[in-house]
Amino acid sequence: MRIDIITLFPEFFESYFEYSILKRAQKNGKAELKIHNLRDYSTNKQKSVDDYQFGGGAGMVICIQPIDDCISKLKAERHYDEIIYLSPDGETLNQQICNTLSTHSNLILLCGHYKGIDQRVREHIITKEISIGDYVLTGGEMAAAILSDTVIRLIPGVISDETSALTDSFQDNLLAPPIYTRPSNYKGWKIPNVLLSGNEKLITEWREQEAIKRTKERRPNLSE
Ligand code: SAM
Repeated sequence: MRIDIITLFPEFFESYFEYSILKRAQKNGKAELKIHNLRDYSTNKQKSVDDYQFGGGAGMVICIQPIDDCISKLKAERHYDEIIYLSPDGETLNQQICNTLSTHSNLILLCGHYKGIDQRVREHIITKEISIGDYVLTGGEMAAAILSDTVIRLIPGVISDETSALTDSFQDNLLAPPIYTRPSNYKGWKIPNVLLSGNEKLITEWREQEAIKRTKERRPNLSE
């Protein structure tokens, strides 16, 4: 999978994509992450990409021209499955959306800033709008990083144990069951006996029951 991120702050992604699973995914060719500085597409000397709002009002708006030029250049080079604008009024990100996006080959993520972007970009260029929650961030960079992380870890072969991502919370609309590791008894705090039984069937059943119990307690809306 290839993800192209368009941003005014390319440095933001340097450290984020240079560690752990995201780094490994790039190294073993499972994911390609390309960062594009929107200012490179500015046509003025100052390299500015924003302007005042028509009709007045506080906050600058990112202009359509640099965004259109950048995305047109990318689209001329390959087909993109989705061109996503990260926005607080988009569809709220969830595991189902991540599962679907992880099956795609090429994605563009557009990060807004200031007051946002010219509405015409959203109407004519963007194919999907995603929010990471009902709050307002300063820019779309954090949201693009979160989206890239959640999607890339679902690509087969990115996580060493492939079943791991499939048993995480929100797959099958369930939260994950409790997990334990050594020692089995710490200060008298013991783990459930079934996990030491060696009986795979019983352990699977116990995990299923615990996942259902936890979901009912914490997120009853998921099981509805
Ligand atoms: N004026 C916009 C509004 O009221 O909806 C908010 C603009 S916000 C300060 C600047 C940029 O941050 C947005 O263009 C968007 O790219 C990003 N952003 C802010 N909150 C976000 C969220 N919850 N999810 C995704 N992106 C967000």
